[in-house]
Amino acid sequence: MIDYIIVGAGLAGCVIAERIANTLDKKVLIIEKRNHIAGNCFDEKDENNILIHKYGPHLFHTNNKEVIDYLSKFTNWDIYNHEVLCFIDGQKVSIPFNFNTISDIFPESKAKLLEKKLLEKYEFNSKIPILELKKSEDEDLSFLAEYIYEKVFVNYTAKQWNMKPEDMDGAVTARVPVFVGSDNRYFNDKYQMLPKYGYTKMINNMLSHKNIKIMLNSDFKEVCSIKEKDFYLFGKKFDGQVIYTGQIDELFDYKFGELPYRSVDMKFETIEKEYYQEKATINYPNNYDFTRITEFKHIHPVNSEKTTILKEYPQEYKIGQNTPYYPIFTEENQENYNKYLEYSKEFKNLVLVGRLAEYKYYDMDDIVKRALDVFGDKIK
Ligand code: UDP
Repeated sequence: MIDYIIVGAGLAGCVIAERIANTLDKKVLIIEKRNHIAGNCFDEKDENNILIHKYGPHLFHTNNKEVIDYLSKFTNWDIYNHEVLCFIDGQKVSIPFNFNTISDIFPESKAKLLEKKLLEKYEFNSKIPILELKKSEDEDLSFLAEYIYEKVFVNYTAKQWNMKPEDMDGAVTARVPVFVGSDNRYFNDKYQMLPKYGYTKMINNMLSHKNIKIMLNSDFKEVCSIKEKDFYLFGKKFDGQVIYTGQIDELFDYKFGELPYRSVDMKFETIEKEYYQEKATINYPNNYDFTRITEFKHIHPVNSEKTTILKEYPQEYKIGQNTPYYPIFTEENQENYNKYLEYSKEFKNLVLVGRLAEYKYYDMDDIVKRALDVFGDKIK
C-alpha cells in the first residue's frame, strides 16, 4: 500500500518523503527519472577521488536556524566560506564587488573617494543591487555603477540568460550585490557550510527508512496516468496525495505552452597538476563562452596530484535534449506559469513544490524551508 507519491528525488521531494515517513508513519513511493537521488545537488567522487557537483557548484548558506537544525539530523558539516574571483581586463578580483575589489582596480585616490561616497550614501556592510546603484545621481557613484554593470553584469547575464539585466527580475542580479565593506565572501549568511560527506550522502540518510521506496530511471507518466482530475498508479485509481516536484508544464502536457528555462552544458576536465586556480570559482563575464570555472578541490580538499575543473556553458533549454536548470523571470513567463498554477488547483490531491514545479529560483535552504512548510500546511 502506498499512501503518498512523490515525483522527483531532489531536495524538495526528499524532505517531504522523510517527514511523511518519520512523523506520519505512512508509506511513500518516490518516482525519479534519473538514475540517482539528490536532484541537482547530486555529488559523487570522480576518477581523481575528488567530490564533484555533477550539476554545477552547490554551496550551502543560510540564515535559517530551523533549516540547519533539520538537516543536521542527517549530516555533520564542514565549515566552508565560498569565495569567487571575477576576471576583468586581465586581472582576477573579488566579487561581490567590494572595497577590496575597488582597491585592486582603481588608483588609490580614486578608490578612497569611491569608498567614501559609498559610505556617505549606504550603511557599512550593506548590499546594494547593481540596478539600484545604477540609479545614483552622484557622479562618482554613477561612474562606479556603470563600470561594475559593464564589466561584471552585462556580458555574464547575456551568456547566462541571453538577456539584459534590466529586462529580468531585479532579484536575479541582486543575488550578487555590490557590498559596502571588505568581506570577500560570496555570501554573507550566518551559516555557511557543506555536508561533510556530500549532499548525496545527506539525502540518502534522509531516505533511509522502511516506509520510503524509490523507483529510479522511471518517468512519472510510465507509472502514473491522469484521467479527468484523478491520478492512477499502475492503472489503479490513487486516492493519496501526489507531491510533484518536476516541470509543471510537462505534467500538464504543455497545454498552455512550454515554460522556458535556461540550461547549462557542464564540461568537466581533469588537469594534470595539483591546483588549477586560486579560488573555488572564477567568473569570466567578458571572455570565453563559459560563464565560470569551478575547481572542486577548493570546496572539498583532498590530496591528489590531479585536479578537476568544471566549465559552465549556458544554453537554451530544449525538451528531451538537456536539463532545465533555471526558470526565466519575465512577466510573460510568470503569467503563463500562473495559468498552470490555476489549472493545478482543480486537482485536489496534487501538491506542487520546488524550483521546477513552482517556477522559482529557490536556493537549497529556501527549498528545505519551503518543503518543511508545505509538509506542515498541505500534507494531509
Ligand atoms: N551575475 C553576473 N556576473 C557575475 C555573477 C553573477 O552578471 O559575475 C548575475 C547573473 O545574471 C547571474 C546572477 O547574477 O545569473 C546570479 O548569480 P549567481 O552566482 O547567484 O548564480 P547561480 O550560482 O545561481 O547560477
